[in-house]
Parts: sequence; structure tokens; C-alpha cells
Amino acid sequence: MKSFLNFAKVVWAFPNTFIGLVIGLTGLLFGGHVRRVGRALEFYEGGIKWFLHQLPNGHFILAMTLGHVVLGQTDASLEISREHEAVHVEQYERWGPFMLPAYFLSSVYVWLRGGRLYRDNPFEREARARDHHGESN
Ligand SMILES: [Zn+2]
Repeated sequence: MKSFLNFAKVVWAFPNTFIGLVIGLTGLLFGGHVRRVGRALEFYEGGIKWFLHQLPNGHFILAMTLGHVVLGQTDASLEISREHEAVHVEQYERWGPFMLPAYFLSSVYVWLRGGRLYRDNPFEREARARDHHGESN
């Protein structure tokens, strides 16, 4: 039963994982690396690092999660942010295809109420509350 449940979570999160795989696998062609940690695939360095740098404030993003894919700058940045990103993986397993719209709308809602787009987003608050660093993305 547990393995069926895990399989269902992987399928439910897959629309997001697919986006992550496209970015991660492309990054591999440009010098990136990949490894599996639990249910997640971590991609880093090379083209993955380049991709993160294209995002707003990208140089400060240690890692970002898309379904069961975690895109990181480096081996070390993934180490630092692993607990935090694991909470995001669980959020994707809960929200599935609704995760990105829910995350985006939460940021807009928080911003309209005078909060900070990123730090006050409830998905980030949950991740910070449950990791042991309280700092990464
Ligand atoms: Zn985060």
C-alpha cells in the first residue's frame, strides 16, 4: 500500500516534474550533473546553474524544486537546502498540478496585502518552519 501511495504521489506531481526534467536534462548537456536522493532527482552545475542565474535574483537561489526534480547551483548549495526543498517536494505531492498556480496566487495574495512576494508566501513559510536553517529558497 505504501509503495502504491508513493507511486501515486510521483504520478500526481509529474506535470511539475516534467518541467524540471526538461530543464535538468538540458542542463546535463551543458556540463551539469544529476543524482537521486530519496524520491527526488537533484540536478546541478553547468546548464542548471546557468538556468537559475536567468531567474530574478537568480544568483541568490541555492536551489528550486519542480515536482520530484530539485535544480541546484552546486553540490554544496543542494546540501544546504536539502531539508527545505524536501518540504517543497511534499507540497508538490500534495498539490500536484495545482501547485504552481497555488504558489503563484499565494504570492499575489500576500503581495496585495502588503507582504513580501517570496518570504511571506505560505508555501515558503511552511518550508522554513520545517527545515533547520530557515534560509534557503
Ligand atoms: Zn522554498
